[in-house]
Amino acid sequence: MGAWSEILEAVEPLEDLVFDKGLIERLSAPGRALPGINFYTPTFKSYASSEIKDCGRSAWPAVSITGGDCKLNCDHCKAKILEPMMPARTPEDLWRTVNDIVAQGAGGMLLTGGSNHRNEVEYDTYYPTIRRIKDEFPQFRIAMHTALVDEAIALRMADAGIDAAMMDVIGAQDTITQVYHLRRSVDDFERALEALTATSMKVVPHIVVGLHYGQLLGEWNALDIVARHKPAALVLVVVMPTYASESRPFVAPDAHEVGQFFGDARDVLSDTPLLLGCARPAGSVKRLIDAYAVMAGVDGMAHPSDGMVELAARLDRRVRVTPACCSIAVGDEVLAMDDANAGLEIDLAEIVRQERERREAQKRQAVFGRVKVIGGEGRSGCCGA
Ligand code: SF4
Repeated sequence: MGAWSEILEAVEPLEDLVFDKGLIERLSAPGRALPGINFYTPTFKSYASSEIKDCGRSAWPAVSITGGDCKLNCDHCKAKILEPMMPARTPEDLWRTVNDIVAQGAGGMLLTGGSNHRNEVEYDTYYPTIRRIKDEFPQFRIAMHTALVDEAIALRMADAGIDAAMMDVIGAQDTITQVYHLRRSVDDFERALEALTATSMKVVPHIVVGLHYGQLLGEWNALDIVARHKPAALVLVVVMPTYASESRPFVAPDAHEVGQFFGDARDVLSDTPLLLGCARPAGSVKRLIDAYAVMAGVDGMAHPSDGMVELAARLDRRVRVTPACCSIAVGDEVLAMDDANAGLEIDLAEIVRQERERREAQKRQAVFGRVKVIGGEGRSGCCGA
């Protein structure tokens, strides 16, 4: 393998990006072993098979017990995350919804909801229905966004049959107070994680990188908290400034700092699967972030940018591709992790060919779009004055 800077230059979709040389040196240091990597993407159609669903949306829908309502209205989300989910505002609704989605072929769901003012999702009345769902459809997997819990609630979740428990771990008090508007402490987050990991559930904490208005603040503390409780996997997502209001704006996090954090996360959690979820800012920041994630050694990545499969293969990483979208957010891949057949080994030449073809098609489309505008057609865009 050549020097990593040369490898980066060889990957066409990365050629306009400027990387942090010191960080590249750090990530490429001898002794930093790179595990295999699984990419979750719906774009490599030729790898779709009957065993693997095309898209996680129908296979793993997200269901919200509060519909689009959330009392917290955190500054980075404003409850927008809940809006597109399927509402199930009563246990009866949940039962009907699950029966419907099972009939449509769903393998599981993400069960979530808006928080109360204490960052708890009030599932109390739902546990008997969740138990009934698991008894009636034992193969149907449930990943639950738990929010903050104590031991008793964590045990109720496990007794109800929840397969995977997910929660955001926040490591800075200022972020809890200012971004989440919460009167809870960092210790509350650690205690919740401790309570969850003491149960039989697979626990998959998330760290939202850049949660403090786009700055990294409590991420390293959150990482230490996660490391103390040995979860099944850690999902990293990067905050997207799009949902924030104008009065409390977010910036896109600095991609190089995010890359440093990925390197630290890999070093601290050397034996824990590390996954990059689909949420991250778009554009060149995303390509930088993704490239750093590949170089840092994440085990899985949802919706990789162009060039990532090629980069991973050029770095001699064992590459697998699972043709699914959204699955990291909903836990599908985490629950499949013990399955030796999860993901398909890829043919690098074929993947690179497909990526190049897709880029060419995008370029042609862009040129075609410009021609249409010059010709006076298709002026229905946002600035079509
Ligand atoms: S508690 Fe969750 S759903 Fe509610 S606004 Fe905050 S991040 Fe969004």
